[in-house]
Amino acid sequence: MSFDELNLIDPILRALHEEGYTIPTPIQQQAIPQVLEGHDLLGVAQTGTGKTAAFTVPILQILTQTAKVAHVSHSRIRCLVLTPTRELAIQIGESFGAYGRHLPLRHTVIFGGVGQLPQTNALRRGVEVLIATPGRLLDLMNQGFVDLRHVEVFVLDEADRMLDMGFINDIKRVLPKLPTARQTLFFSATMPGPIQELASTILKPNPVKVA
Ligand code: AMP
Repeated sequence: MSFDELNLIDPILRALHEEGYTIPTPIQQQAIPQVLEGHDLLGVAQTGTGKTAAFTVPILQILTQTAKVAHVSHSRIRCLVLTPTRELAIQIGESFGAYGRHLPLRHTVIFGGVGQLPQTNALRRGVEVLIATPGRLLDLMNQGFVDLRHVEVFVLDEADRMLDMGFINDIKRVLPKLPTARQTLFFSATMPGPIQELASTILKPNPVKVA
C-alpha cells in the first residue's frame, strides 16, 4: 500500500513525498482512514512505529477540510496534543511543521523548564494546533493564555508514561476544559488497568483500536 491510496489531500501527499516517505507504516495504514472518518482511536503503539505521523497527518487534513472562514484573524486552538516530555513535544511539533508545510495551519509547542514569554507570545499570535506537556499547559491555562473551548481533536500521547511521571492529576484538570463533542485519539505503549480506565473516561464508547 502507498500513501496515495489513503485519500490524502495533495499538499499533504507532497509533503510526505518530500520527507521521503512512500509506504505508510502498519499503524499509519490502520489509523489514518479511521481518524479521517472522525472516529475516536485507541492506539497501542510505541515510539518508532510511525505513530506520530499516524495522528498528525489525518489531523492536518481534518483541520484543512473543515477550515473556518479565512478572514477570522484571531485563530482558535482546534487541536490539542498532550505529551509527557519536552523532547516528544518538540518532535510532534516538527511533524506538524513538516507534514503541514504546504498548509496554512499554525502550531506551537509549550513545555516547562524554560521561560514562558516566547510561548505566550506564540499563543497570542494564534495557533490552530497546540502541543503541550501537562504542567506548563495548566500553568498557562490558569493565567488565561489558553482557551480550549474550540478544540475539535484531542490527542493524549504516551498515556502510560504520563501516569508513570505523575501527570494524571494534571490531565484530569485539563479534561473538563475541553468540549465533550470532540474527536479523541489516545496512545499508549502498554494498557495496564489505570490506563484502560483513563481511556474509557476520555474516549467515546467503542473506539477504533489499532495496535
Ligand atoms: P514515530 O514512531 O512517530 O516516532 O516515528 C519514527 C520515525 O519514523 C520518525 O523519524 C519518522 O520520521 C519516521 N517515519 C514515520 N513514518 C514513516 C514512513 N511512512 N516512512 C518512512 N519513515 C517514516
